[in-house]
Amino acid sequence: DLILFWHRRDLRISDNTGLAAARSQSQKVVGVFCLDPNILERDDVAAVRVTYMIGCLQQLQQRYAEAGSQLLIIQGNPTQAIPKLATALNARAVFWNWDVEPYSQERDRTVIESLQEKGIAFLEKNWDQLLHAPEDIVTGANQPYTVYSPFWRNWSSKPKAEPVATLQDAIALTAAEQEQAKQAGAIPLPTAKDLGFNWENELVIAPGEAAAQERLEEFTQNAINEYKEQRNFPAVNGTSQLSAALKFGAIGIRTVWKATKEALENSRSDEVETSIVGWQQELAWREFYQHALYNFPELAIGAYRETFKNFPYDNNEEHFQAWCEGRTGYPIVDAAMRQMNELGWMHNRCRMIVASFLTKDLLIDPRLGEKYFYQRLIDGDISANNGGWQWSASSGMDPKPVRIFNPASQAQKFDPEGEYIREWLPELRSVDTEFLISGNISAEERDALGYPMPIVDHKKQQRIFKERYQQQKS
Ligand code: FAD
Repeated sequence: DLILFWHRRDLRISDNTGLAAARSQSQKVVGVFCLDPNILERDDVAAVRVTYMIGCLQQLQQRYAEAGSQLLIIQGNPTQAIPKLATALNARAVFWNWDVEPYSQERDRTVIESLQEKGIAFLEKNWDQLLHAPEDIVTGANQPYTVYSPFWRNWSSKPKAEPVATLQDAIALTAAEQEQAKQAGAIPLPTAKDLGFNWENELVIAPGEAAAQERLEEFTQNAINEYKEQRNFPAVNGTSQLSAALKFGAIGIRTVWKATKEALENSRSDEVETSIVGWQQELAWREFYQHALYNFPELAIGAYRETFKNFPYDNNEEHFQAWCEGRTGYPIVDAAMRQMNELGWMHNRCRMIVASFLTKDLLIDPRLGEKYFYQRLIDGDISANNGGWQWSASSGMDPKPVRIFNPASQAQKFDPEGEYIREWLPELRSVDTEFLISGNISAEERDALGYPMPIVDHKKQQRIFKERYQQQKS
């Protein structure tokens, strides 16, 4: 009576709804993770992300062992590898949690067909990574939302599920079954290096379920209370840094929600309450973009707004390289890009600044920036990344027609002492704060410090962007 549980982006055993459903039907639940070349051989995979993922898998194997069972690792196209393993183990069913991404949807349909042919059961649509299924958050006219504010009102008004019980007292495979699993492709867990991904720097976020749980507790007992004031300052450690754990499901979303409710119960002022609700709103942005991608899979390919479908971008290759490497001559932009190149993580305020700069100042197609981010981010997630880029490029679901960030005023507001810029641009440490922030640094000084001249003029580029926008609109 074996049920195989296929982990994808739910690398934990606690608060895992699909896994809990499997355990409620059988004591013999065995986990599997498939290293999928369709994903790992794409040219937008980040070494840091694979390293984090393998770290999560290592710990998941331990958790399975503690629960009395085991997590198998296989490699290959899951549409064949999963049914093959299920057949070899004589599994009664394969369970998994659903995902909004277009590739996942297609892959899962094929796996289901194959399982059905073999008479193996599967779990119907189970949205473990969301607090609300896409079908449940719709407008009065039964349509998906394309604007965040009404989505938030609807989403936040609905009761949310509690965390679910974990995998307990499971039964492991017999020696004979282990042999069958091996025959069907089970391998020891490789390292990220074995898979060809070398991340030399330390991981900015510790992988695995226990670390994610700790991060959540630390954040919801402290920084969440000042989130509203602190969240926009990249030099401050004011956000949760839970994005990678949420992307890979090292933590359950019901557990996260419960922690915010407890924080609300303990809050002693309206201000603190606003901060906590502010953080809940970010969790809702995450779901908004996931629902959007599910309902409009074409978002992954191009602009949502008509005006931007054939926008005349310059796509200057040298400018793009300068942006990637953090040598645009705009200190706040360069600091942010260097943070991402080094850590595999960038502060949200800076993600918005550099994305606006790429699309509105350098007039470069947001899809190039989106891909570069995906190649670098530990939390790289198709729906959040695409949502963020489309928002910044004004091509997406933002009711404001155009927004353009001025790098100097952004730095003035959000890095007023220049701490963040100095951290990531050591060559500019000696520059006076006022000039550092405004970017008003003379050609001689730039030359002496080895820092480039601005590659474009913000005012001029802003004008060009607006002109092109007007032309496209008409
Ligand atoms: P917190 O401020 O603590 O927020 C809590 C959680 O809410 C995050 O962990 C994340 O899961 C979610 N969240 C917060 N803001 C957003 C948002 N705007 N959209 C969707 N979810 C959000 N986030 C990713 O997880 N992966 C990405 O690939 C990604 N790419 C982005 C690209 C651009 C251009 C922009 C502007 C934003 C992007 N974001 C992405 C959203 C956001 O920047 C990160 O989620 C956030 O910086 C992660 O840090 P944190 O966990 O400390 O966030």
